[in-house]
Amino acid sequence: MSKFNLILLILLFNLQPMSQAQPLSNTLINGGGVNDLQPVNGLHLTEGLNRTPQNMNDAYNPGEPAINMKAVRWLNTSMPIAIWISPGLALPSVPFDEIPNTRCDLVYSMIKANPKNPFGDLSKVNGWTEEVNDLVANGIEQWREFENEGLFKFGFTDDPANANILVFFTDIFKDASAPGGISAGGITTAKIFPVDKLHLVHKMPVIIELSTTVNNDAQKMQAASAHEFGHALGIKAHSPYREDLMYVDRVVNSLSPADKATIRWLYHQKTDYVMY
Ligand SMILES: [Zn+2]
Repeated sequence: MSKFNLILLILLFNLQPMSQAQPLSNTLINGGGVNDLQPVNGLHLTEGLNRTPQNMNDAYNPGEPAINMKAVRWLNTSMPIAIWISPGLALPSVPFDEIPNTRCDLVYSMIKANPKNPFGDLSKVNGWTEEVNDLVANGIEQWREFENEGLFKFGFTDDPANANILVFFTDIFKDASAPGGISAGGITTAKIFPVDKLHLVHKMPVIIELSTTVNNDAQKMQAASAHEFGHALGIKAHSPYREDLMYVDRVVNSLSPADKATIRWLYHQKTDYVMY
């Protein structure tokens, strides 16, 4: 291992998929600076909370469980965040549990090896049509209103080598079935870097993967895309509330007032950890 590797503190983490397929014991919210958070330890292991008129607008803690719920987001210097939505391409199928530890490096190395055509060997998934990408883009557009508030900027690119966030598809996530038979609909994988170590690292793509089987109608695909893009923006932990788009087993299709309060809170934080 090189000195370069040794001195890097690169925290690899994974985001929980949108369904209840994965164990959630590491998504406890311990209080990381959001006022008025409800004590929610372990509640992801239950069926979730319901909001009341009194807390309808309250942020939840979006911090990353792997680093003690610390806030993670993009820096202003990364704006506009560039998004590339693949034409229905599937990355090589691996067991669902292996996705978090492999996807960023895999995609990074594919782009490095062949920047002009990095994904020429990948095939399209069953069920993908051009319309699916419109739905994915529509879901992402749910976050556009915050540009007006100066929180962040994002745009779409047709060059994957220049993208910060890349979207791929799968017909089904391998080994992702929960006991109830529900499969994951999406997963977002990113690497987190300490902001004071950015001069030592190279940019790493954030990877979103969406299931065309689970998200088998327009509304589901659009909402799954919006949820995963919320993770890609930095809402790492799920909301414990069923009324929020970022609830782990999403039941709503658009951002709630609390999702909006949460992204505002996140992008007004001075952060020690970023995606880059
Ligand atoms: Zn999620």
